[in-house]
Amino acid sequence: MLPRRELFPHVIEMNHQARRRMGCCVYLIFDADDWCLIDIGYEDTLPDIIEIIRKLDFPLANCRYLVATHADVDHIQGLKRAKELMPQAKVVGHPNAARLLAEGERIMTYAEISAQGISLDLPSIQFDEQINEGNVLKIGRLNLEVWHTPGHAPAQLAFRLGNLLLSGDNIYRDGAVGNIDAHHGSDIPAFIKSLRRIQRSDVEWLLPSHGPSFRKDPAMIQKTIDRLEQYQHLADFGTCAVDWPLMDQWDEELARG
Ligand SMILES: [Zn+2]
Repeated sequence: MLPRRELFPHVIEMNHQARRRMGCCVYLIFDADDWCLIDIGYEDTLPDIIEIIRKLDFPLANCRYLVATHADVDHIQGLKRAKELMPQAKVVGHPNAARLLAEGERIMTYAEISAQGISLDLPSIQFDEQINEGNVLKIGRLNLEVWHTPGHAPAQLAFRLGNLLLSGDNIYRDGAVGNIDAHHGSDIPAFIKSLRRIQRSDVEWLLPSHGPSFRKDPAMIQKTIDRLEQYQHLADFGTCAVDWPLMDQWDEELARG
């Protein structure tokens, strides 16, 4: 048996539990006999994670859900193997993630970044259920409320548990956001909306998909929003911009001669 290092009541995070960085945040939410996992990470860290879960005395047969926050390979590569180990657990995520992973889509999931020589296995998997804004996942007496927060990816979900938000790749402790990339379906105006929603909510703690948890600070989120608002009008993220005022200025200058 290992002592359970609860990050918050009913919440264990595997990197925090292991006191070493294994990959993306893998949250185990539990109440009474029920538990679920929010993301699972890469396949090669799965055996360690399963061993920790066993040593924490969570029977594998009691896992209710294997949740995908979105379809990126670093979050979900281990899903297929995890489902084999826990066949009763329902694999759930957004309809867009369900489609990408059923089709084994390699570009949108970052399994293939050919310009950087990145080519990773992407085991395709069928979701048992699709979840979206307004759905609730029940774990014991706990309600995990599903938020659809597109921006980084069309399928990005976040999960509210009381005053906590498992906030996915929306924002990290340093104010960085999940990367913005046209080939990934990123949408800057949608991203800003998702960040405003988080900023204005009464959630107090953010539990991101990468790095440590942190207290929500509306001023810090505002700095990030301001940055993304600038990106909308700059060439930095190419076709993700909504316009490029420099080109209008150039038109006027060219016309003036
Ligand atoms: Zn991520």
